[in-house]
Amino acid sequence: MKALVYYGPGKKSWEEQPKPAIKESTDALVRVLKTTICGTDLHIMKGDMPEVASGRILGHEGVGVIEEIGSSVSNFKKGDHVIISCVTSCGKCEYCKKGMYSHCEKGGWILGYMIDGTQAEYVRIPYADNSLYPIPAGSDEEALVMLSDILPTGFECGVLNGQVKPGDTIAIVGAGPVGMAALLTSQFYTPAEIIVIDQDDNRLAVAKTFGATHTINSAKENALIRVMELTDGKGVDTAIEAVGVPPTFELCEEIISAGGHIANIGVHGKSVTLHMEKLWDRNISITTRLVDTVTTPMLFKTVQSKRIEPKKLITHRFKLDQMIEAYDTFEHAAREKALKVLLEN
Ligand SMILES: [Zn+2]
Ligand SMILES: [Zn+2]
Repeated sequence: MKALVYYGPGKKSWEEQPKPAIKESTDALVRVLKTTICGTDLHIMKGDMPEVASGRILGHEGVGVIEEIGSSVSNFKKGDHVIISCVTSCGKCEYCKKGMYSHCEKGGWILGYMIDGTQAEYVRIPYADNSLYPIPAGSDEEALVMLSDILPTGFECGVLNGQVKPGDTIAIVGAGPVGMAALLTSQFYTPAEIIVIDQDDNRLAVAKTFGATHTINSAKENALIRVMELTDGKGVDTAIEAVGVPPTFELCEEIISAGGHIANIGVHGKSVTLHMEKLWDRNISITTRLVDTVTTPMLFKTVQSKRIEPKKLITHRFKLDQMIEAYDTFEHAAREKALKVLLEN
């Protein structure tokens, strides 16, 4: 089969690899139908995650069809269409029992990271019963690719942890796919104002069409001053950080109102200054989270009913064997006006 293989920072190849096989009775072998590239894959390619082994097949998002199941898989059978969750979970360990699948003792985020992933014709999924979600016939499978990672990530890490409530004023810092997912899902709770901050005018224009009430290009204007103007000097009730660099997190610290919530989503590679001298008496909370994907079934219903339309995040479509071209497009997202690239097998 063909797969996208990581060979150390900056080195990747679309090449022939052995087709994976069932190893454990709880595994499923899935033929990938649609997959995508995540910002996290670019982090790996940049060398930000040196723990990723050379020779690893990347990718942790996608939908597919079950090719084969291990003897103890009971929720799925050959031929079933499935959403592949970015998080693998056994469903039985202490963390899984708490609904904290991201820290499953036997799984968590391992796909396309510690084990071979979805940017391939086939992928082996451990603990298939708990790590795959069924797709009913006739569903729009392109939209469902967004349920592997970005929608639950934006919703759980940003909106739920940020405790977004009706009438709130919220800021989303970073209008990449995950920031956009937070933008879409925050509207379940009807916040009064949604301020989206980014440095890319195209992404901000898209954010407006997705429900942002105000946008700020922080490369052109002072985001702190603009947010304070928009909030009568109070700041926002929830600040969702969806970038993962020190300046954006520190901006969240500056724009948070008393009693507010800073919800981090970004993958941070560097330490951030926590301004306790300013925040100690502000009654704020700061949360971090790796997506647990516990809300995937709920989000699935909202996508099926078109209450939210994450398919609009797909800007580019490729055939699976155009993987290198798709990476090139996604790596130059601003130039290419790219949000999500979709690859079809
Ligand atoms: Zn991802
Ligand atoms: Zn577990």
